[in-house]
Amino acid sequence: MSEHWIDLRSDTVTQPSSAMRAAMQGAEVGDDVYGDDPTVNRLQDTAAEMFGYEAALFAPSGTQTNLIALMVHCGRGDEYLVGQEAHTFKYEGGGAAVLGSIQPQPIANQPDGSIALANIEAYIKPDDIHFARTRVLALENTIGGRVLGTDYIAAATRLAHERGLVTHLDGARICNAAVKQGISLREATAGFDTVSVCLSKGLGAPVGSVLCGPKKFIEQGKRWRKMLGGGMRQAGILAAAGLYALEHNIERLAEDHVNAAALAKGLASIEAIRIIAAPQTNIFWLDIPAAACEPLRAALEREQIRATVGPRMRLVTHLDVSAADVERTISVFTAFFKDWQ
Ligand SMILES: *Cc1c(COP(=O)(O)O)cnc(C)c1O
Repeated sequence: MSEHWIDLRSDTVTQPSSAMRAAMQGAEVGDDVYGDDPTVNRLQDTAAEMFGYEAALFAPSGTQTNLIALMVHCGRGDEYLVGQEAHTFKYEGGGAAVLGSIQPQPIANQPDGSIALANIEAYIKPDDIHFARTRVLALENTIGGRVLGTDYIAAATRLAHERGLVTHLDGARICNAAVKQGISLREATAGFDTVSVCLSKGLGAPVGSVLCGPKKFIEQGKRWRKMLGGGMRQAGILAAAGLYALEHNIERLAEDHVNAAALAKGLASIEAIRIIAAPQTNIFWLDIPAAACEPLRAALEREQIRATVGPRMRLVTHLDVSAADVERTISVFTAFFKDWQ
C-alpha cells in the first residue's frame, strides 16, 4: 500500500502546505468588518493590482463573490446572460434568482466552452415591459478545464459593451487560463468590468475568493457581502493563505497541466476508455463503460485513489498530485481494465 491517497476529484481538495500554514500563523489580523485587518487589506490590494482593477473584496467563497457581483450589477427584475454549463447558472443553487431577484438567461455553450456571439446578440432583450432588463454578460474561464481564446473574449466583451451590458468573469480558474496561454493575469481579465477569482482551487488556499472591480462596485459589494453573511472578523488568518497562494502558486499551475496531459495520455491507451478531449489545463473528462463504474470505484478505493467515477467522469490534477501519482493512477486503471473484460 502506498502511504498517501491520490485525490483526483477536484482541485479544491488541496492541503495547505507548511509554508502556507506558517504564513497563516504569522498573519497580523484585525476586525475586517471595520476594515481593520491589515492582511485582508493587503490581499485585496495585491489582487486588485495583479488582476488589473481599482479594488478588490475578499469573501468566503466563489459562489458568494459571483452572487455579490450579480447583485451589484443587477436590480430586481434584471437578467444576466450566462452559459448553460456555467457555474454561475448551474452550480450556485439558483442564488441569483433566489436571493437577488435576478433572472438568468442561460445560453448553450459551444463545444469549446464559449457562447456564440450570435446567441449573445440574439438574447439581449429589447427595452419592452414584457422582458427582464438584460444587464450582464457573465463568462467563465476556464470552463470545464477549457480555455476561452483571447480573441473570443475581446469580441464578446466588446459586443456586450456596445449593447450597454456590464461584463463579469467567473475567473475561478483564470490563473490556469493565463498560465496555459502564457499571458499576464491582466491580459487574461481584459474586457471584463469585474472578475471573481478562487483562491481555494488550484492555488491551494483553504478558503476564499477575491472579487475585483471598480472602487464604487467594491464599496457596494461590501454591503451585499455583509448581508449574505460574508463579513468575517480576524479574516487575515485566511487572507494570509490567499496571499501566499497568489505569490507562490500561480506559475506552478503549469505542472498541473503537464500532469493532466500525462494522465489523459496514459488513460487513452486503455481500450475501454475514451478521452473526450485532450486536456488544456488541469481538468478533463472521459467516458468509461457504465458497467465498469462500480467495480472501478472499488478498485480505486483499494488502491487509495479518490475519483468521482461515472460513465462520463472528470479527473482533476492539482498541487497535491505529483508526476509519480499520475504514473501510479495510470497503472491502477490499466491493471483494472486488463482484468475487467
Ligand atoms: C468552484 C467554483 C466557483 C465557486 O465555488 P466555491 O466553492 O463557492 O468557492 C465558481 N465558479 C467556478 C467555475 C468554480 O469552479
